Amino acid sequence: MALRARAASRDWSRAPAAVRAGALRAAGEALATNAEEAARLVAREVGKPIGEARGEVGRGVAILHYYAQQVFDPTGELHAPSSAGLLFSQRRPRGVAGLITPWNFPIAIPLWKAAPALAHGNGVVLKPSPAATACGLWLEELLGRVLPEGLLRVAPGEAETGMAVVDQADVVSFTGSVAVGRQVAARASGRGVAVQAEMGGQNASIVLPDADIGRAAAQVADSAMGYAGQKCTATSRVIVVGEAGPFVEAFLATVERLPVGDPQGDGIAVGPVISQAARAAVLAAAAEARDAGGRILTGGDGLDGAGWFVRPTVVAGLEATHRLAQEEVFGPICVVLPAADAAEAVRLSNGVRYGLVTAIFSRDLDHVLGLLEEIDTGLVKVNAPTSGVDFYLPFGGEKDSSYGPREQGRAARDLYTSTRTVTIAPSGPG
Ligand code: NAD
Repeated sequence: MALRARAASRDWSRAPAAVRAGALRAAGEALATNAEEAARLVAREVGKPIGEARGEVGRGVAILHYYAQQVFDPTGELHAPSSAGLLFSQRRPRGVAGLITPWNFPIAIPLWKAAPALAHGNGVVLKPSPAATACGLWLEELLGRVLPEGLLRVAPGEAETGMAVVDQADVVSFTGSVAVGRQVAARASGRGVAVQAEMGGQNASIVLPDADIGRAAAQVADSAMGYAGQKCTATSRVIVVGEAGPFVEAFLATVERLPVGDPQGDGIAVGPVISQAARAAVLAAAAEARDAGGRILTGGDGLDGAGWFVRPTVVAGLEATHRLAQEEVFGPICVVLPAADAAEAVRLSNGVRYGLVTAIFSRDLDHVLGLLEEIDTGLVKVNAPTSGVDFYLPFGGEKDSSYGPREQGRAARDLYTSTRTVTIAPSGPG
């Protein structure tokens, strides 16, 4: 598979810019034309609420159109030569990009890796999550209609297939859990190929005493519980500075109003979790918190009837060192932690092995600007939810959340190209 993609990438990398841009633009148009079919497939296969699924597909279209334009960006820089002649640097494709992706954004994540890889002249082999195989194959079929034969291949499978992709690719981009991302990064760098791994999060939303409580409650509820908390950028800890009562009351009221149910139903915010094992893990985390003296403020149980539903769950009264406040559960569960002041809130926020995103809610932007210096995550949101990504800016975390260069936006070209420096001296007597 990698061999065919590599062969196809040779012509692709030499094709005129307008040809590559045209193909990516056509891919975006094909996705837009089939957007509702894609969104329905996402809702059916990975249980994403249909409104969010439509948003994800719309983002996929925008990503393809954005990278179609990037084909026309300069591919290098001209420098003053040290003697007569020409001196320039030039970015070149690496060959075949091996992409390994999770199930929770089965359209957007494959596209935010594949589109820049293709724009910069590479071929692609994509290994989607086994829980999102149908979405992966659907994308292969769609993109196959507009891209040269064999340039983008999808390799469905499990860990073994993922490792085979790592072993054959010329550059590797992974998104998924920390445990797997570490193995992928070690194996790819052992082969000497460029690699990037985007992994888990244990993200905090900090609510300062001067925050607009209604806005903070709505946005934290959305980022903690939307899509049943199954986003790397979900809020898993809410750190409330000072008197916590009014915020917690507003937060619980908002969480309890979130519509839970069939992800294909209009207006649903929280669908089922991805698997029976995932449901058991969330319920076990709630039980463990209760055993450790935590108070379940809402939720903590499943829903009656079919489906792997967990009621949105909020826990208080735990130590910040408790597993639920330290590790990613990847479900609709979050912990409320009190802090005496902003400095303690930042210390708590930083006190985990992850470093993806932090949100701060406050009306005092001068104060917030001061706190930014102390926050150790790759993304910071002010008066905005931890979840949600701008595809045209660099994306990635610190500490255990990320390895290698940033993805998305213009930053993506650092992974998918390598830079060559060319010196041309006059051919005749100088
Ligand atoms: P996962 O790590 O189980 O799987 C990710 C991918 O790796 C899948 O395609 C899987 O089949 C493959 N894989 C598994 N073992 C492998 C191996 N040994 N070698 C090569 N490939 C292997 O993750 P998941 O359950 O699909 O997704 C959830 C995780 O993804 C969460 O931890 C979440 O935080 C993270 N995530 C991170 C981001 C981000 O951008 N930081 C975005 C979305 C999801």
